[in-house]
Amino acid sequence: MEAAWRVGIGYDIHRLVPDRPLVMGGLRIKFPMGLLGHSDGDVVLHAVADALLGAAGLPDIGEQFPDSDPAYAGAASHELLARVIQKLLEAGYRPQQVDCVVHAERPKLSPYKRPMAEAIAGLLKLEFGSVSVKAKTNEGLGPVGAGEAIACMAVALVARAD
Ligand code: MG
Repeated sequence: MEAAWRVGIGYDIHRLVPDRPLVMGGLRIKFPMGLLGHSDGDVVLHAVADALLGAAGLPDIGEQFPDSDPAYAGAASHELLARVIQKLLEAGYRPQQVDCVVHAERPKLSPYKRPMAEAIAGLLKLEFGSVSVKAKTNEGLGPVGAGEAIACMAVALVARAD
């Protein structure tokens, strides 16, 4: 018998570039640089979406929303996430819990952790306590440490909606 609970993992990384709005976890964050991407580059929502899709055994967002498709150019990632949730519901799964770790050398994300968790919980129609956002620097190591990119890892728990 298929298990009632399933977990998925998601990861994403986007390059930080000047003169782009910085959007993470569905929030606009004040910073002179933003994340490069075909969509708005929301690295947090992309990792969360892939974690949810993985938990439901569905194809990843690269397959669902190809960056070769002009329909998704400049797309707001909260709209992509809404479509992912719809696909989950159609496949018989409901999001239960999400945990993420954002890796960014800058900007300093501690003031945004709670607002991001609240925003993600709102998008997933979960209580605030069911979504966690943690933030870490990369200790100056690699492209994230050099401030050239921001990465995010996410884990999602879904339940069979029957
Ligand atoms: Mg992405």
